[in-house]
This record gives sequence, structure tokens and C-alpha cells, in this order.
Amino acid sequence: GEAARLYRPGEDPLTVLEAGTVRRALLNSSAAWVLQFYSSSCGHCIGFAPTWRALAGDVKDWESAIRIGVLDCGEEENYKTCKEYGILYYPTFRYFKAFTKQFTTGENYKAGSDRELQTVRQMMIDFLQNHSQESRPPACPPLDPIPSSEIASLFDKNSRHYTAIVVESSNSYVGREVILDLIQYENIMVRRVLNSDKAFLEKLGITSIPSCYLIYPNGSHGLINILKPLRSFFSSYLKSLPGVRRKLVSQLPLPKKQNKQDGTEIKAWKEFDKAKLYMADLESGLHYLLRVELATHKTLEGAELKTFKDFVTVIAKLFPGRQPVVKLLETLQEWLVSLPLDKIPYDAILDLVNNKMRISGIFLTTHVQWVGCQGSRPELRGYTCSLWKLFHTLTVQAAVRPKALINTGFEDNPQVVLQIMRRYIQHFFGCKACAQHFEEMAKESMDSVKTLDKAVLWLWEKHNVVNDRLAGDPSEDPKFPKVQWPTPDLCPECHDEIKGLHSWNEAQVLQFLKHHYHNENILYKYTE
Ligand code: FAD
Repeated sequence: GEAARLYRPGEDPLTVLEAGTVRRALLNSSAAWVLQFYSSSCGHCIGFAPTWRALAGDVKDWESAIRIGVLDCGEEENYKTCKEYGILYYPTFRYFKAFTKQFTTGENYKAGSDRELQTVRQMMIDFLQNHSQESRPPACPPLDPIPSSEIASLFDKNSRHYTAIVVESSNSYVGREVILDLIQYENIMVRRVLNSDKAFLEKLGITSIPSCYLIYPNGSHGLINILKPLRSFFSSYLKSLPGVRRKLVSQLPLPKKQNKQDGTEIKAWKEFDKAKLYMADLESGLHYLLRVELATHKTLEGAELKTFKDFVTVIAKLFPGRQPVVKLLETLQEWLVSLPLDKIPYDAILDLVNNKMRISGIFLTTHVQWVGCQGSRPELRGYTCSLWKLFHTLTVQAAVRPKALINTGFEDNPQVVLQIMRRYIQHFFGCKACAQHFEEMAKESMDSVKTLDKAVLWLWEKHNVVNDRLAGDPSEDPKFPKVQWPTPDLCPECHDEIKGLHSWNEAQVLQFLKHHYHNENILYKYTE
């Protein structure tokens, strides 16, 4: 299955970490690390992968000082690890200093939405400079500027190596980038000097910055003549000087895995009927939601706790599940209602969800088994598909069984499922950008929903808006192109043409949705 992953160990210029390797890789490492915790099913992570790969290639020569890694939190065997690192959203970027002596969750990368390759590279430099003297990676030379007087003392003296001096302004990163670009090369040392000592610059004949001044091993010196004053021009010039060679460094050790088979096997393709709803998808989605997505939150309180409680109330009443699952949801709901706490550690909830009560008839699968939500590659579809299906199912259940919500406080609220979905997405959905988009749509028109039927249609319509936006996106599964749904083959009656223009027959769409997401349309194949 390796080739199907977002990042390929051995092929991409970065380190692919996982549950069995990440701790040992980070602990007491002689290099600092930048890790991207991603989820292979998150569209933004897929879209961002080329940039991250390009960055890793760009700073490959820096790796004895700072290394780039990735860890896939969408991979079942990594769930627990990502929770330990407190990963709430994807992608999350974390820095880890060299020589950490105990487990740490790293430092967040806080550049907002700006994930330009150049910005990340500069943040890596800032991070390296933030190391204390003792903990700085040994491969990392001093990155601070040196006084110009120190340079002058090197002139006309024999030395075993070249000394290149990048002269630049204090906010320029070029010098530090060139220093790091050359750390794997011998017979050359790179330093930086600020352009503050004007007399000194004048003496060397430097009229523009950044410039590179070179002291040869025999002590002679002069300004190097370069077409463009750019990092790449400086670095490649210096690397090609006679006598400058790449050091024979032993390949950095790739962290060894602890007796685990490599990768996940490609699961056998499961034939399914797209006109049906599969309980395996809904249960796998619930499992992921309760044990993975929510479990990244250490404690629930305030608006989060309220959202979780309301979500559980509604799902306990409306989920058209098998008995052991419904019982689990009801037990959870009763327990939450009975708790007088305004703060609950999520582990307590997990204890209840994981309780080995299978014998007593309370149980939710602990395996992910996608059927109607399976992707043609492991990183595609899956959980987000099941989440849509779950909420469509809930809107339909609320419309066909309105009495189910009696005595919950939600009985007269036609928007009940939509509002809970909105809050769930807002507080807990791992994909933050998705949540933002969804919130915008909710703000715009959710209030206009006045009946339970209209709620079914609202969610259908908005899901189609998302489908439309994502058509052609890198996260699209080629086997499951984003289309306006239901397609004519699924529901011919749903489609009309008015004066040559396509139009939906909403009454038919509503009828179709009520049939498609109805408990009678659920198949139990592939459930445990
Ligand atoms: P999905 O869109 O997940 O649909 C699952 C199934 O629902 C389909 O197979 C089909 O059977 C049925 N279906 C399709 N359309 C409709 C409809 N209109 N009404 C009812 N049923 C339908 N990804 C991003 O990259 N960017 C985003 O901004 C983004 N926002 C999201 C917001 C939310 C609230 C959610 C739940 C997911 C979001 N995603 C986003 C994920 C994305 O929508 C898909 O879930 C993901 O790309 C997987 O697509 P899929 O092919 O499995 O189909």
C-alpha cells in the first residue's frame, strides 16, 4: 500500500514517521525536526503535499541540523499517537528541538494560513536560532552575524578552507540559508556580516547587498561575481569551488520500526450498491468520531461539552442503528445527563465507549470498514463521506420520526439536526477549512429552514454546493467524481429541464432522500 500514500518513504526527501518510530526519532535527536501531522483523507493536506515535498527537497541539505517529517493521523495505527501529541486539526505543524530528554508535544508553527515555502524555511531558521548554546544541533554552524573586524583578521592568512562571507541586512535570511546549504560540504565555511559597518563595506568594494565576499585558502580575497544576488546562485557557486566537496556523511539513520509489518495492506475491494446505505459506513464513522476525532480533545467543557451532549442526545434518539450500538448511545446519553460536572475528561467518555460490555449487549465496532465510502486509494473518502451520510440519515430520521425527539427539548425545532451538525463541525471536525466553509453556508441560510422536510433539503443542497466546489480538486477520488447528486441514473424523476436548462424537482428529491437515507434502505453486509 505504500505507493498509495500521500508521502512515500525512500522516494520523497523527507522522513515518514509512524506510531512505532516517532518517539524514538524525536527523543534526544542530534537534529531538530519539523513535523507535519496530516490526515490522508483531508483535502487540504492532499493539496498541500506538493508544497511540503518541495520544501523538503529544498532543505534536504540541512537535514543534519533540521529534518522534515510527516505522520499520517488518518492511519488507524497512528490514532493513539496523534492523540498523545494533541493533534486536533490537520495539517498541524510542530517543531521539535534537538536533544529533547523527554516526551514533548513540540512547538506549534504559528504562521496562520501562510504556508509559503519561503516562510516555512525562514521559520525553520528562526527555530534553529532559538536553541540554547548547549542544545544546538552540532551540525548547525553559528547563524548569528559576526563582527566585521573578525573578517578582516582572516585576510592574507593561509587556511585549510575557504571562508565565504555573506554581507546582508539584518532581516535578510539569505546568509543563513547559504550557511545551511553548505553544512554538508567540506573545505568551506560560510559566515554572515551585517551591512552596518559602512566603511568596511566600502573598503571591500561592496555596493549592494546581499553580496558574497570570498577568502581563498591562500589568504587572497575578493568579491564574487554573481548574476543574481539570490540564495541559489550563492550556494551553487560556493559548492562548485575547486576543492569544495560534499562530505561523506553516513546516511542519516531512518528510525527503525518496532516489529510491525510495513504499511497497511490494500484492502480487498468490496462490491457495493450505490443505491443502498451501508451500516458498516455509519458504524465505522461513529467509531472514528467517538474514538479518534473527539478523543483528540483531552477534556470537554463549555460550548464543546454542550455540543457533545446535544449531539449524543440527538443521535441516541435518531440513529437507526443495531441494538448494541443504540444501547451504547443511550447509555452514553444517560450518563452525560446524570453528570453534574461542567468539565469532563474525554478519557472518561472513552472508558464508557470502550467498555467491554459486548456481553451485555452494548457495543460499537472498533474497526474501520468502509463500503459505500471506500476510496480507490486508502487516503480518499472514508470518514468525511460517512459523516455526510450520518447527518443526512439524521435529517431524514427526524423528518420521518418527529416523535423520537419528544422530551429532549428539541421536539419543536425543525433545524435540530442541522444546528447540531453545525456545532459539531465547528468544534470538532478535524478539517478546519471545511468547517469555515460550512459555517459560511450555515450563517447565510440555515435560519430560513422552517420544517423538518426543508432541513433534509437544505443539507442536500449544501452538500451539492460542496460537491461543486470540490469537483476537480486533488482530493477527488477519480473513481468517485464529485457530481450533483442524486445522478439521473439514481433518480430520474429528480431531474427536469426547463427551457433547455437543468432543474431539480425538489418534491422528487425530497422523496428520494427520504427513501435513500431511510432505515429500510440500510444493508448490514460487512458489519461485524
Ligand atoms: P462525499 O461528498 O463525502 O459524499 C458521501 C456520499 O453522500 C456520496 O457518495 C453520495 O452517496 C452521497 N451524496 C453526495 N452528494 C449528496 C447530496 N448532495 N445530498 C445527499 N447525499 C449526497 N473537503 C474539502 O476538500 N474541502 C471542504 O471544504 C470540505 N468541506 C466539507 C464540509 C463538511 C461538512 C463535510 C462533512 C465534509 C467536507 N469535505 C470537504 C469533505 C468532502 O465533502 C468529501 O466528504 C470528501 O471529499 C469525500 O468525498 P466522497 O466522494 O466520499 O463524497
